[in-house]
Amino acid sequence: MHRGVLCPSCFCLSWSAFSVRALRTVSLFRSAVSSRVTVPSADAVGILQHVFGYPAFRGEQEAVIAEVLAGRDALVLMPTGGGKSLCYQIPAIALQRSGRGCSIVVSPLVALMHDQVGALREAGVAAAFLNSTLEQADADAVEQDLLAGRITLLYVAPERLTTPRFIHLLQRLHARGQLALFAIDEAHCVSQWGHDFRPEYRQLHILPQQFAGVPRLALTATADAITRQDIAERLQLQDARQFISSFDRPNIRYQIVEKRDPLAQLKRFIEDAHEDEAGIVYCQSRKRVEEVAQALVESGLHALPYHAGLPSSIRSEHQNRFLRDEGVVMVATIAFGMGIDKPDVRFVAHLDLPRNIESYYQETGRAGRDGAPADAWMAYGLQDVVNQRRMIDASPAEDDYKRVQTDKLDALLALAEATDCRRVRLLNYFGESAAPCQNCDNCLHPPEVWDATDVARKLLSTIYRVQQASTISFGAGHIMDVLRGKPTDKVQQFGHQAISTYGMGADMSEAQLRTVLRQLVATGALLVDAEKFNTLRLTEAARPILRGEQAVHLRQQAPSARRSRATRSSGVGGRVPVAAQSLDAASQARFAALKAWRSEVAHASNLPAFVIFHDSVLASIAAEAPETLAALRSISGVGDAKLERYGAEVLRVVACGATDERSL
Ligand code: ADP
Ligand code: ZN
Repeated sequence: MHRGVLCPSCFCLSWSAFSVRALRTVSLFRSAVSSRVTVPSADAVGILQHVFGYPAFRGEQEAVIAEVLAGRDALVLMPTGGGKSLCYQIPAIALQRSGRGCSIVVSPLVALMHDQVGALREAGVAAAFLNSTLEQADADAVEQDLLAGRITLLYVAPERLTTPRFIHLLQRLHARGQLALFAIDEAHCVSQWGHDFRPEYRQLHILPQQFAGVPRLALTATADAITRQDIAERLQLQDARQFISSFDRPNIRYQIVEKRDPLAQLKRFIEDAHEDEAGIVYCQSRKRVEEVAQALVESGLHALPYHAGLPSSIRSEHQNRFLRDEGVVMVATIAFGMGIDKPDVRFVAHLDLPRNIESYYQETGRAGRDGAPADAWMAYGLQDVVNQRRMIDASPAEDDYKRVQTDKLDALLALAEATDCRRVRLLNYFGESAAPCQNCDNCLHPPEVWDATDVARKLLSTIYRVQQASTISFGAGHIMDVLRGKPTDKVQQFGHQAISTYGMGADMSEAQLRTVLRQLVATGALLVDAEKFNTLRLTEAARPILRGEQAVHLRQQAPSARRSRATRSSGVGGRVPVAAQSLDAASQARFAALKAWRSEVAHASNLPAFVIFHDSVLASIAAEAPETLAALRSISGVGDAKLERYGAEVLRVVACGATDERSL
């Protein structure tokens, strides 16, 4: 880890030397105040623009920052990619500048701290981390820097934070009035109701006990009310203001397709829309992860597997390659993803149904954090419904718990079967209302709805009659054979040719019937009995359909439409980052040159490329082709430190890219 010195004007990390001793003297004379002192928040915009190079705040950021700078606690709920980090990074810089000392960021993401700190250092901020990956000598050096007031933001893992040694260190800082803020990232880890419970987070209750007067800012992307309440209780934030942002991610396009030949469908989806782009493919089992990764590699994609069964060295190597290399497709179980703040993940694909809408939203939320267009794509079929129902039935949990899980699954199935706007449904689930989005499959290609009442009745009555005739139940395959009039061995063995519906569905394909069965299972008219070899049983909900009292309208699966990427546009909060694909030829050439340059710089500093500049920033530079430092500085994402460090080189690359293009 490289270390630098603080610059006198803004306490940021600067590579020019100046007197650290002078700074230390100032901090030693500071009184040991622990009362909450307000720091003017006017500086916040200046820091946003100069340090981070962004022109304006997004959503609730400004309000959260003002709250923290006023010395008050806060609880922030923002979707993934909403911009939580700036909510504590900007106050930390402002507090350090006004002599309030260091801010501590508690984060469970040990493997990612190096990159997070690297990104801050690139922006010129004096950041450091302490976790088990550091050598003792480096850890000692960080502690010394901390005590000497040389650190603005310190990232620590919760288990490190709560050691007596570290608490003692913090107490020394606190006594000198040099402990500015605690930011608790991924705060849902404190709650058993959250999906990533970490017992170490429970120890964080010592923060309010031992460090009264130091504001606590808890941040999470997990929305539900029980978790929120739990966070507030555990971290004593009952009186804190809660900032709840909209959970909408307008740049993500939701698409759910019927599963036919999932691997072929996935390959087509990637080839059509995401060639050479980074993405995540989620599968349910380790075995499936291996198979899919292998198949993608065979078809020429840069794909890697990731699951809990792989040795941790392989897992971290794959994670690093995903973060550092261009266009890697990570095929993973849900073991992969928390804290992956790679901004340019262009798609998240699900080959198996997630457990519920919360998981689906969390996982798909990893796409498009940079605000540029991204896809959430899922293939879903009858077997998914059967598997998920079976998992709930087979679990040893209490009935109440199973009921909640079943309700959650039903909500997800309703989303999958929906014929109206997916986003409206998703947001409704999180308690938000919305208008149809024009950026989901159903809005863009409204599915045709067909009257499936007749087919549904035939299927249900076949199940009913087969069961009556044989007193045992049968699975979907056999039921379809009977209805389609296929004289299989089993049909003959049980004499099912005699059933009155035998052959009545001869004009239907198996795929069509399967769609109807799936939707009958999804809507609860049919039950899949997991304990009896996935046999089908009628439920009460089937009765009105059988009697002809209830019509069944189902979605007609639209043929998968090929999409032109250039026509896509949408951005978070009106911000529309330049999509690299929409650049003209000259800009494309500059973009490619800039990426090559970035990759060299990133490699030399052992950081992921996006830490140097995001794709969207490079795309804007390529499009605008600035000729002066001032013009470059006006591009969103180019802050002072980066301008000073890379400005001249970027201008040179832009100029060369342009010349190359002209000479073509
Ligand atoms: P979260 O932690 O909420 O998932 P991040 O803090 O990682 O989100 O922010 C997501 C992305 O948005 C980052 O690339 C960040 O640099 C960018 N970002 C955050 N705030 C702004 C802003 N006000 N203007 C432009 N970009 C922003
Ligand atoms: Zn929509």
